[in-house]
Amino acid sequence: MLLEAEQLLKKHYGYDEFRKGQKEILGKVFSHKNTMGVMPTGGGKSICYQIPSLVFDGVTLVISPLISLMKDQVDELHEAGIDATFINSSLGYEEVRERIQGIQQGTYPLVYVAPERLESASFSHLLQSLPIALVAVDEAHCLSQWGHDFRPSYLRIPELIEQIASSPAVLALTATATPEVTKDICKSLSIHSDDVVQTGFARKNLSFHVMKGVDRDVYIKDYLKRNPSHSGIIYAATRKEVERLHDRLHQQGVAVGKYHGGLSTDDRRRMQEEFVYDQTQVMVATNAFGMGINKSNVRFVIHAQMPRNIESYYQEAGRAGRDGEDSACILLFSAQDIRIQQFLIDQSSMEDDRKANEYAKLQAMVNFCHTENCLQAYILAYFKDTNIKPCGRCSECVDDRETVDVTKEAQMVFSCIKRMGERFGKTMVAQVLVGSANQKVKDFSFQKLTTYGLLKNRTQKDVSQFIDYLVASQYLALTSGNFPVLQLTENVVPVLKGEVNVVKKQAIQPKQIQKSDP
Ligand code: ADP
Ligand code: ZN
Repeated sequence: MLLEAEQLLKKHYGYDEFRKGQKEILGKVFSHKNTMGVMPTGGGKSICYQIPSLVFDGVTLVISPLISLMKDQVDELHEAGIDATFINSSLGYEEVRERIQGIQQGTYPLVYVAPERLESASFSHLLQSLPIALVAVDEAHCLSQWGHDFRPSYLRIPELIEQIASSPAVLALTATATPEVTKDICKSLSIHSDDVVQTGFARKNLSFHVMKGVDRDVYIKDYLKRNPSHSGIIYAATRKEVERLHDRLHQQGVAVGKYHGGLSTDDRRRMQEEFVYDQTQVMVATNAFGMGINKSNVRFVIHAQMPRNIESYYQEAGRAGRDGEDSACILLFSAQDIRIQQFLIDQSSMEDDRKANEYAKLQAMVNFCHTENCLQAYILAYFKDTNIKPCGRCSECVDDRETVDVTKEAQMVFSCIKRMGERFGKTMVAQVLVGSANQKVKDFSFQKLTTYGLLKNRTQKDVSQFIDYLVASQYLALTSGNFPVLQLTENVVPVLKGEVNVVKKQAIQPKQIQKSDP
């Protein structure tokens, strides 16, 4: 079957060979195994179900949350000579009926449906009787409560598949899955752990940059000036901030569009099209924008605000450079953004254990911003990739400032936290270390501690940033919650014994001046 598949690849797509992961996935799908494919954005996931739809006798059903894209995808497939159709809420009753008839008559080997459709009893009844050979679950991380984009409508999928009389094979696809999420998906969809194909998460053409303490507006303006011909996305955390940034850039004469959940469907569609067809250079958007957009020449993704976890970050940043050309992913870090995200988690209606999980993910995101090691390697380690090497391109890899030994200062911080009973947050610890006369410090009689004022020649801000660094380096951990408390990890033991030194890049000047601008 693989040989036939290779011929189809050439005929319909014009490509000579499958990529490694595709081949492995197709091999399993052709032997009717339930399979999971984890491939980075741009890795070529769609072909993993489109080609089988041409090979198999029955129908391939694709469950995808991307309603707004279905029409475009289907149009593209028609151009490639593949008969596909979609069924979602944008269609009228008559239209749906006609399409279903077409499916029953075998006109469409490939059918896209939105998960919401599966909740309709008549529709799921219909599916049961169709000759379905393969069910592809796109964006499969939406199935897991521990993923970053859980969708309740996905929960129906396993049950539904079970009811299909033709007992189809299942293919789950995603670009972002931690081991826990992968496990969850495998359990729900009865996928054996041997049938998880993971191609590695690294994106070799992306360079990651974290910029600290920069003025957001000035930075963006300068960046666009330096890269006038580059198309890119600027992500902001709120609709309000999207509007503000958009208006500013518009006034500056930038061809800019905007996208967020508060705009009408028509407006969103128009904005998206103008961006995809290069009529606008820049898209300012909330995270509502981009899932699966088909624009390959995105040269940069700027996060004007930090997103709430690494999964979202990597997925959004990963929309750059799908054509394989060098592209930049720039995160503008500001400590206030942590508060915004904490607030959003706190205000959400999640159960407590899920909230704690979200706080822990947020902390991993914050640590990404404070690490002095390779940023790509950090992300790969987060996803438990097994092939981790420094990328040589990110803002940390190219930061060649000298490192200094800060073991003594680190020991001071550790003992101070210990003496304060590991019960306080960063601000309080920093205040004690710089010898602050703050009333709260006195209330706890911390001015009597031997560690009080040990770092009095530093500013409180300096000490705070140093603590951030120690957290990012995993000497310290923060408890999850709205008021995170600093605790020592087992990594401090060798440091306190003098067996391990702590080093840090010398921060003589604000970081952004030292680093090469992307
Ligand atoms: P994903 O869904 O994983 O983000 P896509 O399926 O959209 O990725 O594929 C990304 C790009 O890679 C598309 O332009 C696609 O045509 C191209 N592509 C996929 N498979 C191959 C292949 N075997 N050889 C060359 N290009 C490919
Ligand atoms: Zn790097």
